[in-house]
Amino acid sequence: MPASEIQEKVRALMPGVIANLEELIAIPSVAFPGYPEEPMHRMAERTLELFREAGFADAHLAEVPHGYPPIYAELPGPEGSPVVVLYAHYDVQPAPESQGWSTDPWTPTRKEDGRVYGRGAADDKSGLATHLGMMRAFDGKPPVTIRLILEGMEETESNLEEFVEAHPDLFQCDLFVVCDMGNLVAGEPVLTTALRGDVSCTVTVRTLDHPLHSGVFGGAAPDAMMALARLLSTLVDDAGDVAVAGVTTGTWEGAEQSEESFLEGVPLLDGVSLIGTGTVSDRLWAKPSINAIGIDTTSIAGSSNVILPQASAKISMRIVPGTDPEAELDALVAHLESHAPWGAQVEVKRVKAAPAFLVPSGGAGVSAAREAMSEAFGSEASEVGSGGSIPLLQTLHEACPAAEFVLWGPEDMDKARIHASDESVDPAEIERMIVAQALLLEKLASR
Ligand SMILES: [Zn+2]
Repeated sequence: MPASEIQEKVRALMPGVIANLEELIAIPSVAFPGYPEEPMHRMAERTLELFREAGFADAHLAEVPHGYPPIYAELPGPEGSPVVVLYAHYDVQPAPESQGWSTDPWTPTRKEDGRVYGRGAADDKSGLATHLGMMRAFDGKPPVTIRLILEGMEETESNLEEFVEAHPDLFQCDLFVVCDMGNLVAGEPVLTTALRGDVSCTVTVRTLDHPLHSGVFGGAAPDAMMALARLLSTLVDDAGDVAVAGVTTGTWEGAEQSEESFLEGVPLLDGVSLIGTGTVSDRLWAKPSINAIGIDTTSIAGSSNVILPQASAKISMRIVPGTDPEAELDALVAHLESHAPWGAQVEVKRVKAAPAFLVPSGGAGVSAAREAMSEAFGSEASEVGSGGSIPLLQTLHEACPAAEFVLWGPEDMDKARIHASDESVDPAEIERMIVAQALLLEKLASR
């Protein structure tokens, strides 16, 4: 099919695709513990039905030892055609009212800006819509062999890595297409080529054997909470850059995210500045970052005039692509163990060391994707990174080391507000992504 024919066909399919998307947004498929199971089952069933109708006759719920099952299907293409694994997920983040939604998160709402609002509109029900639309563009008969995997636990304790490790045969392919990302700005095509990794630890600081009266002893006896605060403050410099010796840093070579578009998604309060140095792209994709993501100490309600003998914090550090997560975590641990004031005792427990991911470049699949993106969007695709990590990518890479990766999707970074209130998606971006995916398969089939 020539590009213009695909474009026309997809345009005609869009009302149906968006109607399906809205139907799926209305199902509160939150897989987190404590949320009702019925909507998750309903979501899985309806998704199955839609993908069966779209051509995956054998789509089924895969068997997993625990959690909600992924949907799996195989659709053979012409003899000898390349094999593509298509990924998206059907669970979504919770949407508590306290986030400040301006419309009901489970009622898909088309606003004046043309976007569809609701939890999961972008992350990642737009990925489901993209795969569905693409299948329909081919009348259910794509030009390559497709293995479909739709995860049900992506936003919580995922069971998919275990599933991939148990069934690597189901994930053998030439190309993984992960449709759970987005352009920086809708309409401007990018491919995601690097994702930061994620290491974390807890640190406990102890100064006294037991609590003391702060009036009688304060001023001379050391307080563990103040010691912890001083220790944490050594992790970054005055600008907010990571100040831990031995942690790797770098600069970003691809597309630049403008500070303006970044700020659209960051609810900075009056007078508060961004932190770090270098371009926004450097800071998000090529430099490490450190955050204290939890603190255990006496609560304000439970406080009295007492010097605290012990305080703990959990620290998360995002690490740059191309680094060894254990070595980066070693550097963080060594810093914490050696920078506490007043000889305070420090105990560090390692929690997590997930590697960063560099998308292998230079292969036929990635260059076909670049061409497909450029044609579908009418402008040259550039490269971006991702500050977040997707540990699944490493697992898929290990299951099928020769396969390439394409990471893309309709979740435009400046407006989609994934995981936050008023999540939304631009239907025109879904349309362009459907065209891009269809063109990608066409190009792969003709190589
Ligand atoms: Zn997602």
